Amino acid sequence: MRGVWVCVIALLVAGVVNAQEQKLKVYISADLEGIGGVITDVQADPKGREYEKFRRLMTEEVNAAIAGAYDAGATEVLVNDGHGDSQNIDLELLDKRARLVRAYPGPLLMMDGIDPSFDAVVFIGYHASEGQAPAVMAHTMWSQRVFEMKLNGIAVPEATFNAAIAGEYGVPVVFLAGDQTAGEEARRLVGPIETVPVKQAIGFYAAVMIHPEEVQPLIRAGVKRGVERRRELKPYKVEHPVKLEITFKYTVTAEIVSYLPGVKRPHGNTVVFTAKDMIETVRFCSAIFYLNAL
Ligand SMILES: [Zn+2]
Repeated sequence: MRGVWVCVIALLVAGVVNAQEQKLKVYISADLEGIGGVITDVQADPKGREYEKFRRLMTEEVNAAIAGAYDAGATEVLVNDGHGDSQNIDLELLDKRARLVRAYPGPLLMMDGIDPSFDAVVFIGYHASEGQAPAVMAHTMWSQRVFEMKLNGIAVPEATFNAAIAGEYGVPVVFLAGDQTAGEEARRLVGPIETVPVKQAIGFYAAVMIHPEEVQPLIRAGVKRGVERRRELKPYKVEHPVKLEITFKYTVTAEIVSYLPGVKRPHGNTVVFTAKDMIETVRFCSAIFYLNAL
């Protein structure tokens, strides 16, 4: 009798382990400036005359990534719409297998919905940080106000900042699509992830473009490769506590943020906030960015 129970328990445990092995959750964070064909606010701003077309193309690049994730064995895909007011991706055109986070405001900015249950993170439509060149519409988080963001002394683009949020949960970034400079910057800082240059930047508002039908299969294949390499690509972890340094374009913005307790201001345009981890770091950023935006 006892032998029978041991067998039953062994089978149950094997079943649970098996189910866990079969689960593969992929998180996709999507921006718009780094989508193929996007070059100015004519495409990236909802008031631009080509915005409707390019929100569709953004959705199609995300769909290519979802297909690539499923090609690699994904069982669940969550997409975060991370551009502007987070209402760009066309829900009706989105691959039905995925779920969509439309978050504005949210505490984790472009990474709302991420948690330790995910296995891999994919970035679509990403761009380089402010100051990089040649790089299409390069900026860092808040183009009107932020000049530079540093984590523990290292200047980071959105890709690295968001990789550090995923890293806090032990989830590795495996893929980035954007212009060639966005890809190079991410590989230099985050590690040897898969990248697909969807356009060749010539300058801030100029690039050589590729037809979407050429680009999207490359994204699908690149995401598949990235998700398959998820165990070899290490999560991007920043040391605790996290020293966040933000240099603003305007002195007055830094002055206002410095009114908050715990915020230091070593230079007229720069504030420093020491957070216990990346989650506290991104919540601090979300609060100051969105208070100004809403
Ligand atoms: Zn962005």
